[in-house]
Amino acid sequence: MEPNTTSIASGLEKVKARIEAVAKRTGRQPEAITLLAASKTNPPEALREAFAAGQTIFGENYLQEALVKIEALADLPIEWHFIGPIQSNKTRRIAENFAWVHSIDRKKIADRLSKDRPDSLPPLQVCLQVNVSGEDSKSGVAPEEIADLAAHVVTLPRLKLRGVMAIPELTKATALQRSQFRMVREAYDQLRQADYEVDTISMGMSEDLDVAIEEGATMVRVGTAIFGPRRYPIPEELAALAAKNAEPAR
Ligand SMILES: *Cc1c(COP(=O)(O)O)cnc(C)c1O
Repeated sequence: MEPNTTSIASGLEKVKARIEAVAKRTGRQPEAITLLAASKTNPPEALREAFAAGQTIFGENYLQEALVKIEALADLPIEWHFIGPIQSNKTRRIAENFAWVHSIDRKKIADRLSKDRPDSLPPLQVCLQVNVSGEDSKSGVAPEEIADLAAHVVTLPRLKLRGVMAIPELTKATALQRSQFRMVREAYDQLRQADYEVDTISMGMSEDLDVAIEEGATMVRVGTAIFGPRRYPIPEELAALAAKNAEPAR
């Protein structure tokens, strides 16, 4: 299926207008808020269209799916961010293929990413994922454990700690939504107070990016509002390519 070019470009414009509007009414510079296009389930051509419309930062959740797109779009200077849960047997290819990882939530994964990061690349830019919804099923470190994780991450030579990331539980109760974003902000403030040189609060998605920016987000991760509804199941060609990619090297 061909992506709808006009709608991707106009989706991007609309999201940027939202970012600008919130920045304006909260007295922040729109440039201080980075837009990451969360592109999971979208085919490479959709990302190419977004790139043509000016988007250079893309976030992916699933390694195999991401590798297909990274290869297909190798001709474009895209900055790739890994934003999904990390299994320890995937760290090498994540460390080799991404500029940023947002979803560090335990020391073991941080250790492996640092060890696996090639010397030929700059340090991997990382955020610590904070669990602010308190659900056991959600990944992320508890807010009271973030200082300990940060103290460990800054000792790792091939990682550069940039800040915090969270995926608050989506709720129509705006007060609850806001209080979760505030907890992320507080986790970030803790790191600042401990003198870590962090500058990134990665939070806010299509539904809630406005509140997230009001509460201090410096990077919003937006999928649906740019690309339209997710294409579940993943388009067949992409799944086939991913399977091919997963074959062991001979
Ligand atoms: C899918 C996803 C997003 C974007 O969600 P939308 O609601 O489509 O904007 C952001 N962050 C993460 C971690 C995601 O998995």
